[in-house]
Amino acid sequence: MPAKQKRIAIVVHGGAGEDSEFLRKHKKEYEKGIEKAMNAGYNVLAKNGSAVDAVEQAVIELENSPIFNAGRGSALNALGQVEMDAAIMDGKTMNSGAVALLQNVKNPISLAKAIMLNTKYRFLGAHGALDYAKRIHTSLEPDSYFITEYQYDEYAKKVKEEFLDTKEIALDEINQRYHGTVGAVALDEDGNLAASTSTGGTPNAKEGRIGDSCVIGAGCYANNDRCAISGTGDGEFLIKSVLAHSISACIAYKKMSVQEACDYVIFKENKKIDGDIGAICLDKAGNIGIAFNSERMIRGYKATGKRPFIKIYK
Ligand code: ASP
Repeated sequence: MPAKQKRIAIVVHGGAGEDSEFLRKHKKEYEKGIEKAMNAGYNVLAKNGSAVDAVEQAVIELENSPIFNAGRGSALNALGQVEMDAAIMDGKTMNSGAVALLQNVKNPISLAKAIMLNTKYRFLGAHGALDYAKRIHTSLEPDSYFITEYQYDEYAKKVKEEFLDTKEIALDEINQRYHGTVGAVALDEDGNLAASTSTGGTPNAKEGRIGDSCVIGAGCYANNDRCAISGTGDGEFLIKSVLAHSISACIAYKKMSVQEACDYVIFKENKKIDGDIGAICLDKAGNIGIAFNSERMIRGYKATGKRPFIKIYK
């Protein structure tokens, strides 16, 4: 009897948030970007590669694309600077690596992976992370590489508004609801899960602001016995709701399916929050859960026995 084909799966997202003119104008490019990322991750899995390598490859594609808010194309903070956050987690060992407030590193997700695999630390921030990147000869790029015309225009618009406004603008007003954070979850042939998330943060945020994407349990989580999750949306809410870990807890303790757990945490437990939240989730059997409360979440998957799927709106 031929050996049963093992299931492999990759799910990716390109951020939850409001619809925008920019998004509508570049819909095809967003779909192509997601497809490219899905294929990059799937190709790793199809060659018996690990879930960790698959989620890294998928996110690298999205970090290299100028239309997503991660790596190149990152949102600019209130000082017009790029500060990137990223995390990766291996569901087999439950080890993780994360970076925050990172500048000039072409692929923050690869630096997070190097921290997970090659250091005794789990989380490095700012100049310490950059110093480590230089020591291991990670690809670096000048500031100009990361700053796209679109993100610069968004920044310039806000600066102009603030200049003309006489009242002080509260931090939460400054956080616009345009998100393009990226993430991936994968299941490999050996039954291992992994998750990764990478972002330029929220536009015009105060310098030094760190969101959920690099916070294990909030925007990223993987545990072979439960699921792998990557979150997106207003980071302050994902941190408050410990979103990724809450979804995994519903699976572990309430015996919910991945879809039920995503729906429960996003639409019931957090139904009162006034912000965008979304998540992609995958379990060991290859079941996929996707939920978001925003107008759109760019997302897609490719998995054994399923037709490849890409969608932006509900
Ligand atoms: N969650 C990210 C952050 O708050 C933003 C996003 O998902 O677009 O940094």
